[in-house]
Amino acid sequence: VKARAYVHIQALSCIVGSKYCLDGRDEQRAYTVDYRGIFKGRAMAVVRPGTVHEVSAVMAYCSKQGIAVVPQGGNTSLLGGAVPDESGESVVVVLSRLNQVRSIDPENGSATVEAGMTLHAVRELATSVGMLFPLRIGSEGSCQIGGNISTNAGGTAVLRYGNMRDLVLGIEAVLPDGRIWNGLRKLRKDNTGYDLKQLFIGSEGTLGIVTAAVLKLFPMPKSAATAFVALPSADAALKLLGVMRQRLGHSVTTFELMSDEALDLVSSHLNGERLPVDHRGRWCVLAEASSGDSQSELDSALEEALSHGMEQGWVLDASVASNTAQALQFWRLREEISDAQTRTGGSIRCDISVPLSDIPRFIALASDAVRRIAPDSRMVVYGHMGDGNVHFNPLRPSSAGSAEYLGQYETSVTQAVDDIATGLEGSISAEHGVGVAKRDEIFARKSEVECWMAQRVKQALDPYNLLNPGKVLPFTPQQPLASVAAI
Ligand SMILES: Cc1cc2nc3c(=O)[nH]c(=O)nc-3n(C[C@H](O)[C@H](O)[C@H](O)COP(=O)(O)OP(=O)(O)OC[C@H]3O[C@@H](n4cnc5c(N)ncnc54)[C@H](O)[C@@H]3O)c2cc1C
Repeated sequence: VKARAYVHIQALSCIVGSKYCLDGRDEQRAYTVDYRGIFKGRAMAVVRPGTVHEVSAVMAYCSKQGIAVVPQGGNTSLLGGAVPDESGESVVVVLSRLNQVRSIDPENGSATVEAGMTLHAVRELATSVGMLFPLRIGSEGSCQIGGNISTNAGGTAVLRYGNMRDLVLGIEAVLPDGRIWNGLRKLRKDNTGYDLKQLFIGSEGTLGIVTAAVLKLFPMPKSAATAFVALPSADAALKLLGVMRQRLGHSVTTFELMSDEALDLVSSHLNGERLPVDHRGRWCVLAEASSGDSQSELDSALEEALSHGMEQGWVLDASVASNTAQALQFWRLREEISDAQTRTGGSIRCDISVPLSDIPRFIALASDAVRRIAPDSRMVVYGHMGDGNVHFNPLRPSSAGSAEYLGQYETSVTQAVDDIATGLEGSISAEHGVGVAKRDEIFARKSEVECWMAQRVKQALDPYNLLNPGKVLPFTPQQPLASVAAI
Protein backbone atom coordinates (compact mmCIF):
# COMPACT_ATOMS: atom_id res chain seq x y z
CA VAL A 1 0.00 0.00 0.00
CA LYS A 2 2.81 2.37 0.98
CA ALA A 3 4.61 1.69 -2.32
CA ARG A 4 1.44 2.43 -4.30
CA ALA A 5 0.87 5.66 -2.34
CA TYR A 6 4.51 6.65 -2.97
CA VAL A 7 4.05 6.21 -6.73
CA HIS A 8 0.83 8.27 -6.70
CA ILE A 9 2.44 11.06 -4.67
CA GLN A 10 5.36 11.21 -7.11
CA ALA A 11 2.94 11.40 -10.05
CA LEU A 12 0.86 14.14 -8.42
CA SER A 13 4.02 16.07 -7.49
CA CYS A 14 5.04 16.00 -11.15
CA ILE A 15 1.72 17.67 -12.04
CA VAL A 16 1.51 20.40 -9.38
CA GLY A 17 5.14 20.65 -8.23
CA SER A 18 6.44 18.95 -5.08
CA LYS A 19 6.00 22.14 -3.05
CA TYR A 20 2.25 21.92 -3.64
CA CYS A 21 1.83 18.21 -2.96
CA LEU A 22 1.64 17.68 0.80
CA ASP A 23 1.97 14.15 2.11
CA GLY A 24 3.14 14.61 5.70
CA ARG A 25 0.51 14.44 8.43
CA ASP A 26 1.50 17.74 10.05
CA GLU A 27 1.50 19.75 6.83
CA GLN A 28 -1.85 18.21 5.87
CA ARG A 29 -3.59 18.95 9.17
CA ALA A 30 -5.19 22.27 8.14
CA TYR A 31 -6.88 20.47 5.24
CA THR A 32 -8.01 17.26 6.94
CA VAL A 33 -9.90 18.79 9.88
CA ASP A 34 -12.89 21.07 9.44
CA TYR A 35 -13.22 24.67 10.66
CA ARG A 36 -14.83 23.68 13.97
CA GLY A 37 -12.54 20.69 14.57
CA ILE A 38 -15.48 18.28 14.52
CA PHE A 39 -14.84 16.33 11.31
CA LYS A 40 -11.39 14.78 10.99
CA GLY A 41 -9.93 12.56 8.29
CA ARG A 42 -6.70 11.51 6.63
CA ALA A 43 -5.49 11.95 3.07
CA MET A 44 -2.96 10.19 0.87
CA ALA A 45 -2.01 13.66 -0.35
CA VAL A 46 -3.22 17.24 -0.32
CA VAL A 47 -2.56 18.91 -3.67
CA ARG A 48 -2.75 22.62 -4.46
CA PRO A 49 -2.94 23.02 -8.25
CA GLY A 50 -2.27 26.48 -9.70
CA THR A 51 -4.18 26.30 -12.98
CA VAL A 52 -7.30 24.68 -14.39
CA HIS A 53 -5.05 22.45 -16.51
CA GLU A 54 -3.32 21.18 -13.39
CA VAL A 55 -6.72 20.47 -11.78
CA SER A 56 -7.67 18.60 -14.94
CA ALA A 57 -4.43 16.58 -14.96
CA VAL A 58 -4.80 15.70 -11.25
CA MET A 59 -8.40 14.60 -11.79
CA ALA A 60 -7.53 12.58 -14.93
CA TYR A 61 -4.72 10.82 -13.06
CA CYS A 62 -6.90 10.04 -10.03
CA SER A 63 -9.68 8.85 -12.30
CA LYS A 64 -7.38 6.42 -14.14
CA GLN A 65 -6.02 5.14 -10.84
CA GLY A 66 -9.42 4.88 -9.11
CA ILE A 67 -8.42 7.39 -6.39
CA ALA A 68 -11.17 9.38 -4.65
CA VAL A 69 -10.85 13.18 -4.76
CA VAL A 70 -12.18 15.66 -2.19
CA PRO A 71 -12.40 19.25 -3.50
CA GLN A 72 -11.76 21.91 -0.86
CA GLY A 73 -12.21 25.68 -0.82
CA GLY A 74 -11.83 27.70 2.38
CA ASN A 75 -12.87 24.71 4.55
CA THR A 76 -15.48 26.77 6.42
CA SER A 77 -18.51 24.60 5.73
CA LEU A 78 -20.22 23.17 8.77
CA LEU A 79 -21.24 19.62 7.87
CA GLY A 80 -17.97 17.87 7.02
CA GLY A 81 -18.26 18.07 3.22
CA ALA A 82 -14.74 19.34 2.56
CA VAL A 83 -12.64 16.92 4.60
CA PRO A 84 -11.55 13.40 3.58
CA ASP A 85 -12.69 10.23 5.33
CA GLU A 86 -10.51 8.16 7.70
CA SER A 87 -9.16 5.78 5.05
CA GLY A 88 -6.15 7.92 4.14
CA GLU A 89 -6.64 6.85 0.51
CA SER A 90 -8.15 9.98 -1.03
CA VAL A 91 -6.56 13.10 -2.46
CA VAL A 92 -7.71 16.53 -1.27
CA VAL A 93 -7.65 19.10 -4.08
CA VAL A 94 -7.39 22.60 -2.59
CA LEU A 95 -8.40 25.42 -4.95
CA SER A 96 -6.86 28.40 -3.13
CA ARG A 97 -4.09 28.97 -5.72
CA LEU A 98 -6.67 29.44 -8.47
CA ASN A 99 -7.35 32.99 -7.37
CA GLN A 100 -7.05 35.14 -10.48
CA VAL A 101 -9.54 37.60 -11.93
CA ARG A 102 -10.09 36.46 -15.52
CA SER A 103 -12.07 39.54 -16.59
CA ILE A 104 -14.50 42.16 -15.36
CA ASP A 105 -17.30 43.67 -17.42
CA PRO A 106 -19.14 46.43 -15.51
CA GLU A 107 -21.42 47.19 -18.48
CA ASN A 108 -22.60 43.59 -18.53
CA GLY A 109 -22.69 43.59 -14.71
CA SER A 110 -20.41 40.56 -14.46
CA ALA A 111 -16.98 39.40 -13.30
CA THR A 112 -15.23 36.19 -14.32
CA VAL A 113 -13.11 34.92 -11.44
CA GLU A 114 -11.32 31.74 -10.47
CA ALA A 115 -12.82 29.46 -7.86
CA GLY A 116 -10.14 30.00 -5.22
CA MET A 117 -10.76 33.73 -4.79
CA THR A 118 -12.13 34.45 -1.35
CA LEU A 119 -15.59 35.97 -1.14
CA HIS A 120 -14.04 39.02 0.50
CA ALA A 121 -11.67 39.53 -2.45
CA VAL A 122 -14.57 39.27 -4.91
CA ARG A 123 -16.60 41.82 -2.96
CA GLU A 124 -13.58 44.16 -2.97
CA LEU A 125 -13.12 43.61 -6.70
CA ALA A 126 -16.72 44.64 -7.34
CA THR A 127 -16.32 47.70 -5.12
CA SER A 128 -13.21 48.73 -7.07
CA VAL A 129 -15.39 49.27 -10.15
CA GLY A 130 -18.21 50.90 -8.19
CA MET A 131 -20.37 47.79 -8.14
CA LEU A 132 -21.66 45.27 -5.62
CA PHE A 133 -21.32 41.51 -5.33
CA PRO A 134 -24.06 41.00 -2.77
CA LEU A 135 -23.32 37.61 -1.17
CA ARG A 136 -22.55 38.40 2.48
CA ILE A 137 -21.68 35.70 5.03
CA GLY A 138 -19.74 35.69 8.29
CA SER A 139 -16.92 33.56 6.82
CA GLU A 140 -16.24 35.86 3.86
CA GLY A 141 -12.55 36.31 4.65
CA SER A 142 -11.85 32.58 4.29
CA CYS A 143 -14.58 30.97 2.19
CA GLN A 144 -14.01 30.84 -1.55
CA ILE A 145 -16.24 31.39 -4.56
CA GLY A 146 -15.92 27.71 -5.54
CA GLY A 147 -17.09 26.70 -2.05
CA ASN A 148 -19.89 29.29 -2.13
CA ILE A 149 -21.08 27.85 -5.43
CA SER A 150 -20.76 24.25 -4.30
CA THR A 151 -22.79 24.91 -1.14
CA ASN A 152 -25.21 27.35 -2.80
CA ALA A 153 -24.36 29.77 0.00
CA GLY A 154 -27.06 32.11 1.31
CA GLY A 155 -26.29 34.74 3.94
CA THR A 156 -27.78 38.03 4.97
CA ALA A 157 -28.81 39.61 1.64
CA VAL A 158 -30.76 36.71 0.07
CA LEU A 159 -33.98 38.59 0.72
CA ARG A 160 -33.00 41.18 -1.89
CA TYR A 161 -30.51 39.44 -4.21
CA GLY A 162 -31.10 35.69 -3.86
CA ASN A 163 -28.58 32.99 -2.95
CA MET A 164 -25.60 31.76 -4.96
CA ARG A 165 -27.85 29.94 -7.43
CA ASP A 166 -29.19 33.36 -8.43
CA LEU A 167 -25.80 35.04 -8.60
CA VAL A 168 -23.96 32.82 -11.08
CA LEU A 169 -24.18 33.30 -14.86
CA GLY A 170 -21.63 30.72 -15.94
CA ILE A 171 -19.26 28.05 -14.66
CA GLU A 172 -16.05 26.30 -15.69
CA ALA A 173 -15.68 22.85 -14.13
CA VAL A 174 -13.41 19.83 -14.30
CA LEU A 175 -15.40 16.62 -14.66
CA PRO A 176 -14.62 13.41 -12.76
CA ASP A 177 -12.72 12.02 -15.79
CA GLY A 178 -10.54 15.15 -16.00
CA ARG A 179 -12.22 16.86 -18.95
CA ILE A 180 -12.73 20.63 -18.67
CA TRP A 181 -16.22 22.02 -19.34
CA ASN A 182 -16.11 25.69 -20.31
CA GLY A 183 -19.54 27.04 -19.44
CA LEU A 184 -18.28 30.57 -18.70
CA ARG A 185 -21.20 32.32 -20.42
CA LYS A 186 -22.06 35.89 -19.48
CA LEU A 187 -25.71 35.62 -20.52
CA ARG A 188 -28.83 36.39 -18.57
CA LYS A 189 -30.97 34.55 -21.09
CA ASP A 190 -29.96 31.21 -22.60
CA ASN A 191 -32.67 28.66 -23.25
CA THR A 192 -30.57 26.21 -25.22
CA GLY A 193 -31.44 23.11 -23.24
CA TYR A 194 -30.57 21.89 -19.75
CA ASP A 195 -29.04 24.57 -17.52
CA LEU A 196 -26.00 22.41 -16.72
CA LYS A 197 -24.26 24.96 -14.49
CA GLN A 198 -27.02 24.43 -11.93
CA LEU A 199 -25.79 20.83 -11.48
CA PHE A 200 -22.58 22.16 -9.95
CA ILE A 201 -24.30 24.69 -7.70
CA GLY A 202 -25.16 23.15 -4.35
CA SER A 203 -23.81 19.68 -5.23
CA GLU A 204 -20.88 20.01 -2.78
CA GLY A 205 -18.14 18.80 -5.09
CA THR A 206 -19.80 15.48 -5.93
CA LEU A 207 -20.24 16.10 -9.68
CA GLY A 208 -17.24 18.23 -10.71
CA ILE A 209 -14.58 20.63 -9.47
CA VAL A 210 -15.58 24.24 -10.10
CA THR A 211 -12.51 26.14 -11.34
CA ALA A 212 -14.00 29.50 -12.39
CA ALA A 213 -17.33 31.31 -12.58
CA VAL A 214 -19.04 34.31 -14.10
CA LEU A 215 -20.72 36.21 -11.25
CA LYS A 216 -23.46 38.84 -11.43
CA LEU A 217 -22.58 42.31 -10.21
CA PHE A 218 -25.14 44.93 -9.19
CA PRO A 219 -25.13 48.71 -9.04
CA MET A 220 -23.72 49.87 -5.70
CA PRO A 221 -26.64 51.24 -3.63
CA LYS A 222 -26.32 54.97 -2.97
CA SER A 223 -27.73 54.77 0.53
CA ALA A 224 -28.18 52.25 3.35
CA ALA A 225 -30.17 52.49 6.58
CA THR A 226 -29.63 50.02 9.42
CA ALA A 227 -31.76 49.52 12.53
CA PHE A 228 -31.48 47.34 15.64
CA VAL A 229 -35.01 46.69 16.86
CA ALA A 230 -36.48 45.09 20.01
CA LEU A 231 -39.83 43.29 19.69
CA PRO A 232 -42.13 41.37 22.01
CA SER A 233 -42.28 38.18 19.90
CA ALA A 234 -41.22 36.46 16.69
CA ASP A 235 -44.77 37.04 15.47
CA ALA A 236 -44.29 40.79 15.89
CA ALA A 237 -41.09 40.50 13.84
CA LEU A 238 -43.05 38.86 11.02
CA LYS A 239 -45.55 41.72 11.09
CA LEU A 240 -42.77 44.32 11.06
CA LEU A 241 -41.21 42.64 8.03
CA GLY A 242 -44.57 42.90 6.24
CA VAL A 243 -44.79 46.62 6.95
CA MET A 244 -41.21 47.21 5.87
CA ARG A 245 -41.83 45.43 2.60
CA GLN A 246 -44.96 47.47 1.97
CA ARG A 247 -43.22 50.76 2.65
CA LEU A 248 -39.71 50.09 1.37
CA GLY A 249 -40.38 47.47 -1.32
CA HIS A 250 -37.26 45.77 -2.71
CA SER A 251 -35.02 48.08 -0.71
CA VAL A 252 -35.39 45.72 2.28
CA THR A 253 -32.06 43.89 2.06
CA THR A 254 -31.61 42.20 5.43
CA PHE A 255 -33.98 41.07 8.15
CA GLU A 256 -32.15 39.03 10.79
CA LEU A 257 -33.95 37.70 13.85
CA MET A 258 -32.11 37.06 17.14
CA SER A 259 -33.33 35.59 20.43
CA ASP A 260 -32.38 37.17 23.75
CA GLU A 261 -30.22 34.16 24.64
CA ALA A 262 -28.32 34.47 21.35
CA LEU A 263 -27.56 38.10 22.24
CA ASP A 264 -26.69 37.23 25.86
CA LEU A 265 -24.05 34.89 24.48
CA VAL A 266 -22.60 37.49 22.13
CA SER A 267 -22.62 40.16 24.79
CA SER A 268 -20.68 37.95 27.20
CA HIS A 269 -18.17 37.07 24.47
CA LEU A 270 -17.69 40.76 23.75
CA ASN A 271 -16.94 41.41 27.43
CA GLY A 272 -20.41 42.60 28.33
CA GLU A 273 -20.65 45.06 25.44
CA ARG A 274 -23.83 47.13 25.72
CA LEU A 275 -26.43 46.43 23.08
CA PRO A 276 -28.15 49.26 21.15
CA VAL A 277 -31.51 48.29 22.74
CA ASP A 278 -32.51 46.37 25.86
CA HIS A 279 -32.82 42.79 24.59
CA ARG A 280 -33.71 40.98 27.79
CA GLY A 281 -36.91 38.93 27.51
CA ARG A 282 -37.40 40.24 23.97
CA TRP A 283 -36.63 39.31 20.38
CA CYS A 284 -34.38 41.55 18.30
CA VAL A 285 -34.06 42.21 14.58
CA LEU A 286 -31.20 43.67 12.55
CA ALA A 287 -32.93 45.27 9.59
CA GLU A 288 -31.20 46.97 6.70
CA ALA A 289 -32.57 48.74 3.65
CA SER A 290 -30.45 49.92 0.74
CA SER A 291 -31.36 51.68 -2.48
CA GLY A 292 -30.55 54.16 -5.22
CA ASP A 293 -32.62 56.80 -3.37
CA SER A 294 -31.07 59.58 -1.33
CA GLN A 295 -30.05 58.82 2.27
CA SER A 296 -32.73 61.11 3.68
CA GLU A 297 -35.52 59.44 1.65
CA LEU A 298 -34.41 55.98 2.78
CA ASP A 299 -34.00 57.03 6.43
CA SER A 300 -37.47 58.53 6.56
CA ALA A 301 -39.08 55.46 4.90
CA LEU A 302 -37.39 53.19 7.49
CA GLU A 303 -38.35 55.46 10.37
CA GLU A 304 -41.97 55.56 9.18
CA ALA A 305 -42.11 51.77 9.08
CA LEU A 306 -40.65 51.55 12.59
CA SER A 307 -43.07 54.21 13.92
CA HIS A 308 -45.98 52.29 12.45
CA GLY A 309 -44.64 49.14 14.14
CA MET A 310 -44.46 51.02 17.46
CA GLU A 311 -48.04 52.27 17.14
CA GLN A 312 -49.18 48.69 16.56
CA GLY A 313 -47.20 47.40 19.56
CA TRP A 314 -44.91 45.25 17.37
CA VAL A 315 -41.83 47.38 18.04
CA LEU A 316 -40.79 48.05 21.64
CA ASP A 317 -37.63 50.00 20.97
CA ALA A 318 -35.37 50.74 18.00
CA SER A 319 -32.00 52.29 17.33
CA VAL A 320 -31.23 53.53 13.80
CA ALA A 321 -27.52 53.74 13.00
CA SER A 322 -26.45 57.34 12.58
CA ASN A 323 -23.27 56.50 10.64
CA THR A 324 -21.40 53.62 9.02
CA ALA A 325 -19.37 52.87 12.15
CA GLN A 326 -22.53 52.38 14.18
CA ALA A 327 -24.09 50.22 11.46
CA LEU A 328 -20.97 48.01 11.52
CA GLN A 329 -21.29 47.75 15.29
CA PHE A 330 -24.87 46.44 14.86
CA TRP A 331 -23.66 43.98 12.23
CA ARG A 332 -20.89 42.73 14.49
CA LEU A 333 -23.44 41.67 17.11
CA ARG A 334 -25.23 39.53 14.52
CA GLU A 335 -22.09 38.13 12.95
CA GLU A 336 -20.48 37.16 16.27
CA ILE A 337 -23.25 34.72 17.17
CA SER A 338 -21.82 31.84 15.16
CA ASP A 339 -18.29 32.14 16.56
CA ALA A 340 -19.56 32.74 20.10
CA GLN A 341 -21.32 29.37 19.93
CA THR A 342 -18.23 27.64 18.54
CA ARG A 343 -16.11 29.05 21.37
CA THR A 344 -18.68 28.07 24.03
CA GLY A 345 -19.10 24.51 22.67
CA GLY A 346 -22.09 22.26 23.24
CA SER A 347 -24.34 23.74 20.58
CA ILE A 348 -26.85 21.59 18.68
CA ARG A 349 -27.05 23.20 15.23
CA CYS A 350 -30.30 22.95 13.32
CA ASP A 351 -30.42 24.99 10.10
CA ILE A 352 -34.04 24.83 9.03
CA SER A 353 -36.35 26.73 6.71
CA VAL A 354 -40.14 26.87 6.68
CA PRO A 355 -42.59 29.10 4.82
CA LEU A 356 -42.05 32.59 6.21
CA SER A 357 -45.54 32.75 7.70
CA ASP A 358 -44.78 29.62 9.79
CA ILE A 359 -41.61 30.91 11.46
CA PRO A 360 -43.27 32.01 14.75
CA ARG A 361 -45.13 28.67 14.90
CA PHE A 362 -41.94 26.72 14.20
CA ILE A 363 -40.05 28.58 16.94
CA ALA A 364 -42.84 28.01 19.48
CA LEU A 365 -43.19 24.29 18.69
CA ALA A 366 -39.44 23.64 18.53
CA SER A 367 -38.78 25.53 21.79
CA ASP A 368 -41.46 23.49 23.59
CA ALA A 369 -40.04 20.25 22.20
CA VAL A 370 -36.49 21.11 23.27
CA ARG A 371 -37.62 22.16 26.76
CA ARG A 372 -39.29 18.76 27.18
CA ILE A 373 -36.16 16.87 26.09
CA ALA A 374 -33.36 19.02 27.51
CA PRO A 375 -35.07 21.45 29.94
CA ASP A 376 -32.15 23.74 30.82
CA SER A 377 -30.99 24.41 27.26
CA ARG A 378 -30.32 27.99 26.25
CA MET A 379 -32.40 28.84 23.17
CA VAL A 380 -29.88 30.35 20.80
CA VAL A 381 -32.14 31.15 17.87
CA TYR A 382 -31.18 33.48 15.05
CA GLY A 383 -31.11 33.69 11.32
CA HIS A 384 -32.27 35.05 8.06
CA MET A 385 -35.95 35.51 8.91
CA GLY A 386 -36.65 37.23 5.61
CA ASP A 387 -35.81 33.96 3.83
CA GLY A 388 -37.76 31.75 6.23
CA ASN A 389 -34.39 30.43 7.50
CA VAL A 390 -33.77 29.95 11.21
CA HIS A 391 -30.63 28.64 12.89
CA PHE A 392 -32.29 26.94 15.84
CA ASN A 393 -29.33 25.99 18.00
CA PRO A 394 -30.08 24.86 21.57
CA LEU A 395 -26.96 25.41 23.69
CA ARG A 396 -25.77 23.57 26.78
CA PRO A 397 -26.56 25.21 30.14
CA SER A 398 -23.42 26.69 31.71
CA SER A 399 -23.53 23.94 34.36
CA ALA A 400 -23.16 21.13 31.78
CA GLY A 401 -20.06 20.05 29.88
CA SER A 402 -20.10 20.18 26.12
CA ALA A 403 -19.53 16.46 25.45
CA GLU A 404 -21.99 15.46 28.17
CA TYR A 405 -24.75 17.71 26.76
CA LEU A 406 -24.21 16.73 23.13
CA GLY A 407 -23.89 13.03 24.02
CA GLN A 408 -27.14 13.08 25.94
CA TYR A 409 -29.30 15.28 23.73
CA GLU A 410 -27.91 15.97 20.26
CA THR A 411 -29.67 13.14 18.44
CA SER A 412 -33.06 13.46 20.11
CA VAL A 413 -33.15 17.29 19.91
CA THR A 414 -32.12 17.32 16.24
CA GLN A 415 -34.72 14.68 15.43
CA ALA A 416 -37.47 16.61 17.22
CA VAL A 417 -36.58 19.97 15.62
CA ASP A 418 -36.25 18.42 12.16
CA ASP A 419 -39.59 16.62 12.58
CA ILE A 420 -41.29 19.94 13.35
CA ALA A 421 -39.70 21.63 10.31
CA THR A 422 -40.69 18.69 8.10
CA GLY A 423 -44.23 18.78 9.52
CA LEU A 424 -44.45 22.43 8.40
CA GLU A 425 -43.26 21.40 4.91
CA GLY A 426 -39.87 22.92 5.56
CA SER A 427 -36.26 21.91 4.89
CA ILE A 428 -33.88 20.46 7.49
CA SER A 429 -30.87 22.06 5.79
CA ALA A 430 -31.67 25.53 4.52
CA GLU A 431 -28.19 26.79 3.67
CA HIS A 432 -25.51 24.63 5.26
CA GLY A 433 -25.92 21.77 2.81
CA VAL A 434 -25.60 18.06 3.46
CA GLY A 435 -21.93 17.06 3.81
CA VAL A 436 -21.69 13.84 5.78
CA ALA A 437 -23.49 15.04 8.89
CA LYS A 438 -26.97 15.44 7.37
CA ARG A 439 -26.62 12.91 4.52
CA ASP A 440 -28.52 9.92 5.86
CA GLU A 441 -31.26 11.89 7.56
CA ILE A 442 -31.97 14.00 4.49
CA PHE A 443 -31.98 10.99 2.22
CA ALA A 444 -34.35 9.11 4.54
CA ARG A 445 -36.80 12.03 4.43
CA LYS A 446 -36.89 12.35 0.62
CA SER A 447 -39.27 10.45 -1.61
CA GLU A 448 -38.07 7.34 -3.43
CA VAL A 449 -38.40 9.07 -6.78
CA GLU A 450 -36.32 12.07 -5.63
CA CYS A 451 -33.55 9.78 -4.31
CA TRP A 452 -33.59 7.83 -7.57
CA MET A 453 -33.21 10.98 -9.67
CA ALA A 454 -30.31 12.25 -7.52
CA GLN A 455 -28.52 8.90 -7.73
CA ARG A 456 -28.96 8.74 -11.53
CA VAL A 457 -27.43 12.21 -11.95
CA LYS A 458 -24.44 11.16 -9.83
CA GLN A 459 -24.01 7.89 -11.74
CA ALA A 460 -24.22 9.67 -15.10
CA LEU A 461 -21.46 12.17 -14.32
CA ASP A 462 -19.34 10.18 -11.86
CA PRO A 463 -19.94 6.49 -12.59
CA TYR A 464 -17.01 5.33 -10.43
CA ASN A 465 -18.00 7.47 -7.44
CA LEU A 466 -14.63 9.21 -7.29
CA LEU A 467 -15.67 12.77 -6.50
CA ASN A 468 -16.29 13.39 -2.83
CA PRO A 469 -17.67 9.88 -2.19
CA GLY A 470 -19.88 9.57 0.87
CA LYS A 471 -20.91 13.24 0.76
CA VAL A 472 -24.46 14.35 -0.09
CA LEU A 473 -25.54 10.86 -1.20
CA PRO A 474 -25.39 7.71 0.94
CA PHE A 475 -22.08 5.99 0.47
CA THR A 476 -21.98 3.53 -2.40
CA PRO A 477 -18.82 1.46 -2.83
CA GLN A 478 -16.68 2.56 -5.75
CA GLN A 479 -17.24 0.42 -8.81
CA PRO A 480 -14.04 -1.23 -9.96
CA LEU A 481 -12.52 0.54 -12.93
CA ALA A 482 -12.10 -1.62 -16.00
CA SER A 483 -8.90 0.16 -16.91
CA VAL A 484 -7.14 0.64 -13.58
CA ALA A 485 -3.43 0.34 -14.22
CA ALA A 486 -1.89 -2.25 -11.91
CA ILE A 487 1.05 -0.73 -10.09
C1 LIG B 1 -18.76 32.13 10.83
C2 LIG B 1 -19.46 31.41 9.72
C3 LIG B 1 -20.62 31.97 9.19
C4 LIG B 1 -21.27 31.33 8.13
N1 LIG B 1 -22.40 31.89 7.63
C5 LIG B 1 -23.01 31.32 6.56
C6 LIG B 1 -24.17 31.91 6.00
O1 LIG B 1 -24.67 32.93 6.47
N2 LIG B 1 -24.72 31.33 4.93
C7 LIG B 1 -24.20 30.18 4.37
O2 LIG B 1 -24.73 29.69 3.37
N3 LIG B 1 -23.12 29.57 4.92
C8 LIG B 1 -22.51 30.11 5.98
N4 LIG B 1 -21.41 29.51 6.53
C9 LIG B 1 -20.92 28.22 5.98
C10 LIG B 1 -19.78 28.32 4.94
O3 LIG B 1 -18.97 29.45 5.13
C11 LIG B 1 -20.35 28.30 3.51
O4 LIG B 1 -20.96 27.06 3.29
C12 LIG B 1 -19.32 28.56 2.41
O5 LIG B 1 -20.01 28.70 1.18
C13 LIG B 1 -18.30 27.42 2.25
O6 LIG B 1 -17.25 27.86 1.40
P1 LIG B 1 -15.79 27.21 1.51
O7 LIG B 1 -14.95 27.79 0.44
O8 LIG B 1 -15.27 27.32 2.88
O9 LIG B 1 -16.12 25.71 1.15
P2 LIG B 1 -15.53 24.37 1.80
O10 LIG B 1 -15.92 24.28 3.22
O11 LIG B 1 -14.09 24.23 1.49
O12 LIG B 1 -16.34 23.29 0.95
C14 LIG B 1 -17.73 23.15 1.03
C15 LIG B 1 -18.19 22.05 0.06
O13 LIG B 1 -17.97 22.45 -1.28
C16 LIG B 1 -17.02 21.60 -1.93
N5 LIG B 1 -16.12 22.49 -2.69
C17 LIG B 1 -15.37 23.52 -2.22
N6 LIG B 1 -14.76 24.14 -3.25
C18 LIG B 1 -15.15 23.50 -4.37
C19 LIG B 1 -14.87 23.67 -5.75
N7 LIG B 1 -14.07 24.64 -6.20
N8 LIG B 1 -15.45 22.82 -6.65
C20 LIG B 1 -16.26 21.82 -6.22
N9 LIG B 1 -16.55 21.61 -4.93
C21 LIG B 1 -16.01 22.45 -4.02
C22 LIG B 1 -16.33 20.82 -0.83
O14 LIG B 1 -15.95 19.53 -1.29
C23 LIG B 1 -17.43 20.73 0.21
O15 LIG B 1 -18.30 19.68 -0.09
C24 LIG B 1 -20.76 30.10 7.61
C25 LIG B 1 -19.61 29.53 8.16
C26 LIG B 1 -18.97 30.18 9.20
C27 LIG B 1 -17.72 29.55 9.74
